[in-house]
Amino acid sequence: MNGVRVLLKQPAFLSVVLSAMETFKKECFGFMLGKTDEKGFVVEHSIAMQTAKRKFNSVENINQREKIILAVCGLFWKSSQIIGDFHSHPRFKIESPKDMSYPSERDTDDSREGNVYFIVDIAEKKKKQRWRVTKDGGILGTLGNFKLKIKAFLSYENKKLNPIKISCPTIYKINSL
Ligand SMILES: [Zn+2]
Repeated sequence: MNGVRVLLKQPAFLSVVLSAMETFKKECFGFMLGKTDEKGFVVEHSIAMQTAKRKFNSVENINQREKIILAVCGLFWKSSQIIGDFHSHPRFKIESPKDMSYPSERDTDDSREGNVYFIVDIAEKKKKQRWRVTKDGGILGTLGNFKLKIKAFLSYENKKLNPIKISCPTIYKINSL
């Protein structure tokens, strides 16, 4: 992993987590809005799309969605751009030992240079876990009935994804509730 980090602000964190929980056991999908800074990226807001799934039938599909978001959100958050997206990988079986917060082949193929992609590995929880940063730069913890692990990936060039570190002060707030 390199030194680039993505700061996930509270409204964005909540929107990502809630849409992954709400659509479970279906996949959720949405856009990340924010900017770049000297340390990497800042995600200020995230907007969940009702027509879930990151599996697009065509490029027009994602372009059309982007246009809708930019037309409306651009009015309110002038400094925010679409800097990437998020989607979930819901687990059907709790026992499944594999870390599901990594991109599928399809996810990698869909990635575009300069964008940040968030993947949420979500399962029903077995026991309560405090939120923490994982060794691979992700964040993990429980909320409601769910256990979630979130990882971020930066596309340095089209169809290539590298993990980057997530910074999310909100998780410490959750631990102190
Ligand atoms: Zn995926």
